[in-house]
Amino acid sequence: MPTTIPGQCLCGRITFSAEPASHKMDACHCLQCRKWSGGVLFAVVCSSLQINNESELTAYQSSDWGERLFCRHCGSNLFWRMLDHSIVAVMPQAFDDPSQFKLAAEVFIDEKPGNYSFAGNSKKLTGEEFMGLYD
Ligand SMILES: [Zn+2]
Ligand SMILES: [Zn+2]
Repeated sequence: MPTTIPGQCLCGRITFSAEPASHKMDACHCLQCRKWSGGVLFAVVCSSLQINNESELTAYQSSDWGERLFCRHCGSNLFWRMLDHSIVAVMPQAFDDPSQFKLAAEVFIDEKPGNYSFAGNSKKLTGEEFMGLYD
């Protein structure tokens, strides 16, 4: 750390390399992330991201500040970023080898439905506590 590591979408049309800011992986239980992923969204904040074949990427602006990016062919959810690109998160399982990332925090724990929960003792933050980190 820090080193740049490669990743790609399911169909392989989009490849990328990113420099993770740490080995930490967060889970987000907010309604938007659950709808977008169809499950639970995991994210790794990265200090740099180089995307190849960016024209194959579709961006969906999901809030006044952020956008979600996915492959327009296979639908793989790949990235979340601030509109100004000041914060970039990569979906960890899109990396070729995601094994280095450990679940560190669960955010928007107050929006987590009751039909699943994770084992372990990750840090848990409400949406308000999480958003407070960026005020
Ligand atoms: Zn793809
Ligand atoms: Zn979320």
